Amino acid sequence: MTTASSTTSPAIVWLRDDLRITDNPALTAAVEHGGPVVVLYLLDEESEGIRALGGASRWWLHHSLAALAHDLGELGVPLTLRRGAAAAVVPALVDEVGAGAVHWNRRYGLAAREVDAALKTALHDDGVDAHSHQGSLMFEPWTVQTGSGEPFKVFTPFWRACLSRPEPREPLPAPEQLTPLDEAPASDDLDSWQLLPTRPDWAAGLRDTWTPGEQAALDVLEEFATGHLADYGQRDVPSQEATSRLSPRLRWGEVSPFQVWHRMQSDLPAASREQAQGFLREVVWREFNHTVLFANPHLATKNYRPEFDEFPWEELPEADLERWRQGTTGIPLVDAGMRQLWTTGWMHNRVRMVTASFLVKNLLVDWRVGEQWFWDTLVDADEANNPANWQWTAGSGADAAPYFRVFNPELQASKFDGHRNYVREWVPEVDDESYPEPMVDLKQSRREALDAYETMRRTTA
Ligand code: FAD
Repeated sequence: MTTASSTTSPAIVWLRDDLRITDNPALTAAVEHGGPVVVLYLLDEESEGIRALGGASRWWLHHSLAALAHDLGELGVPLTLRRGAAAAVVPALVDEVGAGAVHWNRRYGLAAREVDAALKTALHDDGVDAHSHQGSLMFEPWTVQTGSGEPFKVFTPFWRACLSRPEPREPLPAPEQLTPLDEAPASDDLDSWQLLPTRPDWAAGLRDTWTPGEQAALDVLEEFATGHLADYGQRDVPSQEATSRLSPRLRWGEVSPFQVWHRMQSDLPAASREQAQGFLREVVWREFNHTVLFANPHLATKNYRPEFDEFPWEELPEADLERWRQGTTGIPLVDAGMRQLWTTGWMHNRVRMVTASFLVKNLLVDWRVGEQWFWDTLVDADEANNPANWQWTAGSGADAAPYFRVFNPELQASKFDGHRNYVREWVPEVDDESYPEPMVDLKQSRREALDAYETMRRTTA
């Protein structure tokens, strides 16, 4: 056993989707335990049902962990990296360091909840305190419900119910200092996890676009609050930097929604104050989607609306799917979005809707195929937001866009990219002869989509 310097036993804080020091209730609780603190990140690719991370997520995770290790080092403790099934690794570390308590912030996917619940029981049985905390959602699924105690299925009443609840708590300060063990527990070498791509190295665009880590996340929040928030009314224009780009930060918990919420409450320039509520409404969509996930654990694989089980999706030849993935469909706005995604790991929200709609409606491809591609390529790929938004676009989801409302990518482009700044940035050859003809006729494929929808409706009526 590694010995502790104080008489109080060490506490382990197990970080997961909360790679930050400030406003981290689990970390604060571990410090309040009074003894040394062991900070653990566990790469769990073994527990049943935990979805394997996509490539872009692995890239982000690597860099965010490196930043976290650095920041923790400044506070005097190392980041302990371990790999394996939580049910085995966490109790082993407890034994190794003689921990008296383990703290973590809650997760909301079913497999993760099952892992956490089983671990909590096992630790309690061994006489170890195990506590879960509220760090990743302001409105946990069981706290915001309809009058009859059901989860909300529609966003606007959910949002109103959130607003009628007590204000989310103030963010917690970062601990000033952390007490380490006398002898640091052994840790994996981050590089040995091979989270970064090597051959081919497709991450150059990600490196150019992002600086993962808590300090960068706080800087982005501050810059947005005092800058582009004022332009949030232009958030549907993909060539404008009018949105926060906080999504990977919230996904990885480099910043908490509590910090975002409270930053919007004070010290904003006048023009930004008007936009803050609209921005927070979007942040609460994230909370709504987690509520939907909590009530529908198989959101990434099952239609939320079961009548869509009868939808006559088409099997597209691999080469055609590849045109969508690589952005060579011949539809400029779709191609621009798919290339922005591939290059930077992020795509503007309006264009996410257009590219997703094109796949499920103009190409009649099952939304799960697109969800998987986004899962692999988005740096903000999220167990709740990704499937919920795909199902929203497909019409099969909670509070979804009706299937028969088919986005026309050309009209969307003329409305939101009238000067073609976005399309020209990502598809510089758009006006050249080399640019391909559209892979489908938009009008005809729209009609076919509506026919397919009618077929489903007749089958399920
Ligand atoms: P801002 O407009 O600045 O919004 C602030 C925050 O609010 C975001 O960071 C995000 O956390 C939240 N938010 C905004 N819009 C939504 C939304 N529609 N649903 C849920 N939360 C929202 N978002 C993800 O975080 N992860 C995903 O995996 C994801 N997949 C998507 C897939 C599709 C098909 C679509 C249409 C949307 C998806 N979104 C996803 C939602 C949205 O596109 C992104 O959250 C947004 O583009 C992030 O940019 P931003 O941080 O600048 O947004």
